[in-house]
Amino acid sequence: MVRYVYDFAEGSREQKDLLGGKGANLAEMTRLGLPVPPGFTVTTEACQAYLGAGRDPEGLAEEIEEHLEALEKTMGKRLGQPDDPLLVAVRSGAAASMPGMMETVLNVGLNDESVRGLARQSGDERFAYDSYRRLLAMYGKTVMGIDGELFESAIDDLKTRVGATTDIDLGAGDIRALVATYLQIVREQTGREFPQDPRDQLGGAVRSVFESWNTERAVLYRRQEGIAGDLGTAVNVCSMVFGNLGPDSGTGVAFTRDPATGAQGIYGDYLVNAQGEDVVSGIRNTVPLADLEDIDKTSYDELMRIMVLLENHYRDLCDIEFTVERGTLWMLQTRVGKRTAAAAFRIAGQLVDQGLIDLDEALRRVTGAQLAQLMFPQFDPSADRTLLTRGMNASPGAAVGEAVFSSDAAVERAAAGARVILVRRETTPDDLHGMVAATGVLTSRGGKTSHAAVVARGMGRTCVCGADDLDVDIRGHRFRTSDGRQVAEGDLISIDGSTGEVFLGAVPVMDSLVVRHFEGHDTGEDEVVAAVVRIMEHADRLRRLAVRTNADTPTDAARARRFGAQGVGLCRTEHMFLGERRELVEHLILATDEQQRHDALAALLPHQRSDFEQVLEAMDGLPVTIRLLDPPLHEFLPGFTELSMQVAVAEVTGRPNPRDVRLLAAVKRMHEENPMLGLRGVRLGLVIPGLFSMQTRAILEAAAARRRDGGDPRPEIMIPLVGAVQELELVRNEVLRVAADVEAETGVSVPFEVGTMIELPRAAVTAGEIAGAAQFFSFGTNDLTQMTWGFSRDDVEVSFFTQYLEHGIFAVSPFETIDRDGVGALVRLAAEQGRAARPDLTLGVCGEHGGDPSSIHFFDEVGLDYVSCSPFRVPVARLEAGRAALDG
Ligand code: PEP
Ligand code: MG
Repeated sequence: MVRYVYDFAEGSREQKDLLGGKGANLAEMTRLGLPVPPGFTVTTEACQAYLGAGRDPEGLAEEIEEHLEALEKTMGKRLGQPDDPLLVAVRSGAAASMPGMMETVLNVGLNDESVRGLARQSGDERFAYDSYRRLLAMYGKTVMGIDGELFESAIDDLKTRVGATTDIDLGAGDIRALVATYLQIVREQTGREFPQDPRDQLGGAVRSVFESWNTERAVLYRRQEGIAGDLGTAVNVCSMVFGNLGPDSGTGVAFTRDPATGAQGIYGDYLVNAQGEDVVSGIRNTVPLADLEDIDKTSYDELMRIMVLLENHYRDLCDIEFTVERGTLWMLQTRVGKRTAAAAFRIAGQLVDQGLIDLDEALRRVTGAQLAQLMFPQFDPSADRTLLTRGMNASPGAAVGEAVFSSDAAVERAAAGARVILVRRETTPDDLHGMVAATGVLTSRGGKTSHAAVVARGMGRTCVCGADDLDVDIRGHRFRTSDGRQVAEGDLISIDGSTGEVFLGAVPVMDSLVVRHFEGHDTGEDEVVAAVVRIMEHADRLRRLAVRTNADTPTDAARARRFGAQGVGLCRTEHMFLGERRELVEHLILATDEQQRHDALAALLPHQRSDFEQVLEAMDGLPVTIRLLDPPLHEFLPGFTELSMQVAVAEVTGRPNPRDVRLLAAVKRMHEENPMLGLRGVRLGLVIPGLFSMQTRAILEAAAARRRDGGDPRPEIMIPLVGAVQELELVRNEVLRVAADVEAETGVSVPFEVGTMIELPRAAVTAGEIAGAAQFFSFGTNDLTQMTWGFSRDDVEVSFFTQYLEHGIFAVSPFETIDRDGVGALVRLAAEQGRAARPDLTLGVCGEHGGDPSSIHFFDEVGLDYVSCSPFRVPVARLEAGRAALDG
């Protein structure tokens, strides 16, 4: 029979999928003998069963009752017992951390009677009623579906009435009255009484945590973080300990290292006389954890001991939630903590130095996405700037944007193309959509562990929090600094998430330290850069995949080489037909006879030759795959509408330009309903005599010139959009003829290869035949995705992908991450068939997927020889290729 409930003393951290992250780690700490309040975990499987059937799975209620009775025995008191009640906290805990996204109900077990027992037993009436009103608000909102604002305004009204500034200023009598108001709200809003039976409360709380898996914000968060939707959450039922029992109690959050920078030391926040939720929500300002040493030295020393123990045990940065109840320390949670990209590299490097992990493990612990973040630009330190204020450096990066004061405004302005900084007093889980839309987040309240900080770090958004000098006026859409300066909605501000500085206006940005290092500049002794280099070197040693770059210009090729590219995997020649060369291309298109076409091509030749010479020079000694012209030629002509307007206007004045008239005729003639499926790629080469010969000649003459100059050019000529081997054979023969001519003319023999792109399903399916005429395949996964799904690559992502993502047809756009089952299957098939026909066939990929971390793991698995991506993704690809090798 399936078991749905496990005592904390039964599980371990390996059981994350079943017990959720929180449950598994509570079990682990219990096993380590740490002071964890006793409790039990209801499994994720119970949640899945509940959500599937819409009711409790068979046997769950009995199992919970059994474990509750055992807990009551351990604690020596019964849930909600009138004289001295056992109270429990009911907390969510999924396998993947989703901070603040799901529900928690504290103080379950209190009712009109047991609240009096708690008051007597604790000797603190105010505390007892405060606990009860928290239960009423949390239970009312989460389980009974009452608008939380009603409770919030009730407490605000009360504070105004009695002249209290904070909750702490409310006396026992005030809070007793508040409890009565809350009970009244429950009655009015639901037509029912608040359930007085503690066991009913527990059942309701467990079910509402299950249901919170599917709230809108949780679904949005999962989509953002790529977490599967069917995993469900576990529910932890934990005996309550109280941080709000007076000045010798409190609650806090601690990190074994700084999650923002990775620096070693003690980091965290502590809040005297408060319950856990008060810290995380950032509603009250906390004190630094170090201050706990003065407040309660015994608890502080014990916490320090436990932090060292946990870090050594988990061999990683741990984040911890704890409570001190009248001088006794209790551990409420630990987990391997989220961290910024810089901290991830730095900590991995430090742990290797400490001998806690090896380099393989260090490589596993960093990701290409994190490295990409470290390559984001920073503020230029030499630029002029006007400092507005300083907050906490919660999530690094340099963000510039319009200040907006609500999440809806953030979404609206971002949709209109603006970059925005979301400014709030504090954020709540309801701000998630605004944080997704914003480039940066600025709050005036809350510490580094506040919601804003944790979520921004997780999403890679720049964040400055707790800038308490700012008076944020949400309704007035503006903030004011204490010296009277004002920023209104739409004004530009800049925030530095690494220093916590907030600037007026747009501060110019520059290359990051890591990029400057890759570029060969001296970056001093920076520990993050050193860790990046060390881990990258390890990835380079391990990886099977080579990494090339997609570069059309010598500048890009040279930069990519500095970033570690081992050649050019795709040089798109159409980019060389733009700018001032457009006119020459026009001559080609407008040519009406053989001679005119020949002249037009001859005029283009020297330009192409010099382009290729420079790219070959930048990649001297490394392969350079040059693709013959791919796009439909009319892409080089002015647009139809624009041109017809021009001609029509000119006709009115009686003097249309003859060139424009001819161009318009050509545009009309060449118009295609589906240009992506029209005269492009290899088809151009077959239809326009001399075009591919000219390009081949330019490539080989450039290579011959390089060789004469002592260079080592390694050109590879690539034919696009081939669907049938016959197409490739025709072009290949043409290339070989030109090569023989060039060799005879120059007297220089240049080694080169001829290969094809595989970007049509037909090419993939007949790859065995095609390999007969190709020395290499390069998968054009952009077109292959377009042609396999029948999705126009230029349109669908903006038009209907949101709905497809919502329906769960895919979790991420197939243009971003390779669709393994469909497009990926074609890649695998073509690779196998190609290699079977020609064992020395070189296989690479040059579509956008070549720089996407998840796709790189797939290409490694399929056994490609290389991936090719844009210069800035080359380091990311090197790292991920190393990580892929670790998996294989
Ligand atoms: C591709 O289709 O994947 C490719 C690399 O070619 P392009 O993007 O130029 O069509
Ligand atoms: Mg293509």
